[in-house]
Amino acid sequence: MKKVLVTGGAGFIGSNFIQHVIDRPELERLVNLDCLTYAGHVANLEPVSEHPKYVFAKVDLRDKPSVMRVFEEHRISHVIHFAAESHVDRSITGPADFIQTNIVGTFNLLEACRHYWLNRDNRITDAPATNAPATDAPAFALRATARQADAPPPSPISDLPSPISHLRFHHVSTDEVYGSLGPTGYFTETTPYAPNSPYAASKASSDLLVRAYHHTYGLPAVITNCSNNYGPYQFPEKLIPVVIQSVLERRSIPVYGDGMNVRDWLYVGDHAEALWQVLTRGRSGETYNIGGNNEWANLRIVERICDLVDEFRPDLGGGSRALITFVKDRPGHDRRYAIDASKLERELGWQPAHTFDTGIGETVQWYLEHQDWVRAVLGDIRAG
Ligand code: NAD
Repeated sequence: MKKVLVTGGAGFIGSNFIQHVIDRPELERLVNLDCLTYAGHVANLEPVSEHPKYVFAKVDLRDKPSVMRVFEEHRISHVIHFAAESHVDRSITGPADFIQTNIVGTFNLLEACRHYWLNRDNRITDAPATNAPATDAPAFALRATARQADAPPPSPISDLPSPISHLRFHHVSTDEVYGSLGPTGYFTETTPYAPNSPYAASKASSDLLVRAYHHTYGLPAVITNCSNNYGPYQFPEKLIPVVIQSVLERRSIPVYGDGMNVRDWLYVGDHAEALWQVLTRGRSGETYNIGGNNEWANLRIVERICDLVDEFRPDLGGGSRALITFVKDRPGHDRRYAIDASKLERELGWQPAHTFDTGIGETVQWYLEHQDWVRAVLGDIRAG
């Protein structure tokens, strides 16, 4: 039975993930650690707030003693780490929080795992003791994997006879770590990192820390790098909810540059299922790319949303495409991202269940029907 720590579970993907998995029988307890920044809202967890397996811990990842306490109190066996500053534009105007939460926060979490999972004296595992060697041999596929013949021997801690095969640290990351593509090609798990924004650089840094804890200490870890998500509960500062709100309020719809930046889009519920598969069945030491095989230029998505709102809300008068306004491009704006998710499909049999047609239609409907949620989360930010 798994005692899962979800960090950042009050945000967009984390809250969808929690709702998606809370009833899985393998799950004994789910602890949501979140400090509720402008992007985190307990309202996102309203459907599970009374669930007997669900616990909320209002803790800031930057506060290491509090992170350690959560580990000890709940005897955590699995971590799925979503918490991050996640908005590229904010990382350009104010990168400091991205360094503190995404890098230092991840470090604190890794240190908690090292302390409670890998250190014989502090171990809080509920698994039966065994003298069998750890089965989770370091194996990250992220670039150079083989230990060099002249490399130093592994740290004594990684040699501990340790029942760690039931433990798992899952780091949720982004395709933005790989930089920008030209008109063709795909990011694979071995594409070299080339982050271009402070956000992407902070995520790349945290990925590399996870990789290092796996190699150095034998931490049983996996990393997933996913493309753009869309769906319910996405804070209305990201492209899709911003466009929906602009159309509803008959405001101009800002589109960066020429609108031809291309992204791969995945429905958040499909991401949640992929994450559960990797968390529970992925091979330790591996990276898995997750994507929707669904590339769109920003402008085409914006037009599609205009048309859907025109269809669902004819009372607004139609003609919403006329609201599109091109604005000065974001500095360093990556041109194209595209994901090759074939490793995940091949190894774990995952495939997205939603087509873009069904996913985007459901998403637009959700925002139309949850304007109270939009007002509440935007109200929080104005009050804060
Ligand atoms: P989000 O901004 O909606 O949510 C982030 C959550 O983390 C919030 O609940 C916030 O309160 C919490 N948080 C932030 N700083 C914290 C701290 N110091 N301590 C504790 N909690 C803190 O983000 P999201 O879009 O749900 O993304 C989740 C993860 O997925 C991120 O790591 C992001 O890099 C990654 N990701 C996102 C996308 C996407 O399209 N949104 C795509 C690929 C990967």
